[in-house]
This record gives sequence, structure tokens and C-alpha cells, in this order.
Amino acid sequence: MSAPSIETIVSLAKRRGFVYPSSEIYGGLGSAWDYGPLGVELVNNVKQAWWRWMVYERDDIEGLDSSIILNPLVWKYSGHEATFNDWLVDCRKCKSRFRADKVGNLVSETDDGKPVFLLNDCPSCGAHDWTDVRAFNTMLQTRLGAVADDDPSALAYLRPETAQGIFINFVNVLTSSRRKIPFGIAQIGKSFRNEVTPGNFILRTREFEQMEMEYFVRPDDEHSKLVDYWVEQYLGWFTSLGISRDNLSLYEVPPAELAHYSKRTVDLMYRYFPEREEKPWEELMGIAWRTDFDLKTHSKKPEDAEGKRVNADSTEDLSYFDEAAKERFYPHVIEPAAGVNRTVLALLMDAYTEKTNDKGETRVILKLHHSMAPIKVAVLPLAKNKPEIVGMAKAIKRSLQPIVRAVYDDTGGIGKLYARQDEIGTPFCVTIDHQSLEDEAVTVRDRDTWEQERIKVADLPTYLLQKFSPGA
Ligand code: ATP
Repeated sequence: MSAPSIETIVSLAKRRGFVYPSSEIYGGLGSAWDYGPLGVELVNNVKQAWWRWMVYERDDIEGLDSSIILNPLVWKYSGHEATFNDWLVDCRKCKSRFRADKVGNLVSETDDGKPVFLLNDCPSCGAHDWTDVRAFNTMLQTRLGAVADDDPSALAYLRPETAQGIFINFVNVLTSSRRKIPFGIAQIGKSFRNEVTPGNFILRTREFEQMEMEYFVRPDDEHSKLVDYWVEQYLGWFTSLGISRDNLSLYEVPPAELAHYSKRTVDLMYRYFPEREEKPWEELMGIAWRTDFDLKTHSKKPEDAEGKRVNADSTEDLSYFDEAAKERFYPHVIEPAAGVNRTVLALLMDAYTEKTNDKGETRVILKLHHSMAPIKVAVLPLAKNKPEIVGMAKAIKRSLQPIVRAVYDDTGGIGKLYARQDEIGTPFCVTIDHQSLEDEAVTVRDRDTWEQERIKVADLPTYLLQKFSPGA
């Protein structure tokens, strides 16, 4: 089972403190969301798991944390100033505005590179009375320094992808880490896009977080096979986090839809809209063969047919010298680019289950993978007015904290406390009762089976560590 719709998650997320609408006391801000006490833990768990998997467990990846605001020349030469566009179309009848690719299909391109869309009827009013399709650059602008509003020299952008920070640091990382290709550079960080139609909760927002890795290889390597390799790696990673393989699918991006830098892209899709008969899938991440486009475009050396420098501003050549082959070239890049927020949404949707208890009441259980659960163990006193029980429960919470994220909770009766922990995905509840004072043992309750086991306090850390060990 998984959540029947994104909406199911929106209300749970707010009620329990995963995600709140941002700036709510001022009426909100379109599609901005804030991550609450449990949300921030889940986000951190995703990012830490990715970093461990990508940077620590492999021997061919270095980490990086580059600036959000870069020299605007980066965006000129990366092609984003000219081509990072969404294609807009308005319905003349009801005045609704859409992204053309969301209300139609890209069928061809004009000679000067403009896309041609075959548009469906307006999803809002059913009319078929569209304006021309026009470009809208989705980079978010800002101004640096105390300058006049219209001073063009102060214009800067918030990055729309973390990747460019990696490309412009290629030689820095290469030299300081003494790497040889193939190797990759990984980065997690915020990106910004002035999305035309943000929405669907945290699926499409103007501020979001990416986990990107640029993998540098020889130009003659089998790039398509490398794309397939990373697709398999990511299918393995997402399923290891508990996402069902049935809710993942692959989309080979057709040539007409490829980004300006890509020769091949495969999108990994998640079933974010299970309630829809058509188009239940939306992109969770993309894996692109970016060719040598980026390293070349940021280099001072390449020249055009007339011998003019293609990049007149760069002070560096980002080519690579292969000692063994005595060859210099621009490495090609395979890029797996994933979204933190879309991963979080997929995890929440996939973990959502409902179960009926003995009294016929329906309970929500968030069956998050142990590694993703915001809280691993909740320590609950059966009687909160008994100082000995409370004292023992608090001491157990403190003793578990160095091992796992544990919380103490006495804000309700035990039934309510269990229900709350189930709903936020806590794998184990440890209950301290009157008997515990006598026999130094506690009850451990399993979130998924609701089974209870009596465990000696002295054995509790080993017991839990075993439960949380990979493969348990
Ligand atoms: P889409 O087609 O959905 O707009 P994209 O193909 O433009 O996405 P990429 O440029 O490939 O996205 O970015 C890599 C990843 O970053 C996406 O797969 C997604 O997980 C995440 N991402 C991109 N845009 C957004 C956004 N507006 N909100 C949340 N996550 C995003």
C-alpha cells in the first residue's frame, strides 16, 4: 500500500510536523514550504544516506559545497541565460496560464530552435483557444551590493542547478585531490527556479534542494552504458530506502525534449499521482550524458571556425591530460541529478499504510525504512504521575541517545502515544511500567507488527542495535 494521493500526505505532514505551508500567518507564499521538527530529520536522513552512499562508500567520488550565487558569466556560458526557458501558453477564454509541455506534446522544432507544441484542450475550461507559445527564463534574479535598481552590472542569479559550481571547480578538485578520471564530484544544495506553475506540495517549488554528481570520463567511453549503469545504481538506492520498485519507472527522454547540453537522458519517475489513470508518473530524478559541453564552454581555449575564442572571459582551460595515453581532452560527463524534496515526498507516499485495530478503528502507520525514520525509538512511561517510572524512562532515553535518535513522550495515554508514533514512522516504542521497577525489564513494541516483547534494560542497546543493523 502507499498513499492514495499527495493530498493525504499534505494533511498528515502538517498535523504531525513534517512540512508546513511557508509564511502561513501572512497568507502563505505560493508554493513555498517549511520543514518542521520531523521533516528536518527526514531531509537530513536522506541527505546523509546519499552522501554516505555516494561519497564514502565509493572510492571514486569527491564532495564539494559551492556558492549559490556565482559570477553571472557562468550562466552566460553554461547556456542558461539564453535557453533555460519554460514555454508558456495562455488560454484566451479563461486566462489560465500553463507550461506548454504540461498541456500538450512537443512535436518538432522550428529552424531557429523554437519548439512546436501540439496543444490539448485547456484543462481548466475545456476551450481550445490558445495564445502563441512563448519563452520565459526561469532563473531567479537578484542584485548584488548597494546599487541602483536598474544597474545591469549588479545583476546576479540564484543558481538553477548545483552542477555549474562543480564544473567551474573541476580543475581545483582535480589538482587538490590528485585524481585521475574516471572520477566524480558530488554536491548537495539549494537551487532556485522561477517555475511558471509550481505546485503539488513539495514536488515543484521555486526553492528546492538537489543532490547532484558529475562523473568525468574519457570522451571515447561508452556513455550510454554509463547512463544505464547509474540508472541501475539509483534504482538500487531508492529501493534500499524502502521505495517500492513498482512505484518507480524509467522514461527515455526523446531527442526533441533533451536539454541543450544532453545527448541522452533517462528520467527516473515516481508514481506521485496514483489516483490518475493518465500520467500517474512525475520525475524523481534524471540521469544525463552531458557530453563535454560544460567543461568546454567554460574553457578559454576552444575556438570557433574563424579562430575566435568561444569563451572570451574564462581564465582557465578545463581540459584533462591523460598521462598514460599522453593525450589532452575535455572529459565527458554523466550526471545523476536527484531532488531531495521529491525523494522525501516519494518516501512519505510509499511508507503510508492504514491498519484497522481490534476496536475497528483505522490507524495510519508510516512504514518508513528504519534508516529514514525521523525518530528511531520513543520511550513512554505508562504512568506519568509515578516519579520512579518517569525517572526510569528518562534515564533510558538518555542512555539510548548516543546509539539512536530517541525521544521521551508522556503527553497522553499509552494508546494515543502508540498511535502518534505509528503515524510519524517511529519503528520502536519502549514502555516502562510498574513491573519494570521490579524486574528491570521494558516492553518493546514493533511499529509494523504491533507485537510486543519484554526486554531487560541491560540488553536494550544491543537489542535495538541489532534491529537497526543493515539487513535486519
Ligand atoms: P521538471 O521536468 O520536473 O521540471 P527538470 O527535468 O527540469 O524537472 P532537472 O533539471 O533534471 O529537473 O533537475 C534534477 C532534479 O531536481 C529533478 O529530477 C527534481 O528531483 C529536482 N527538481 C528540479 N526542479 C524542481 C522543482 N522546481 N522543485 C523540486 N524539485 C525540483
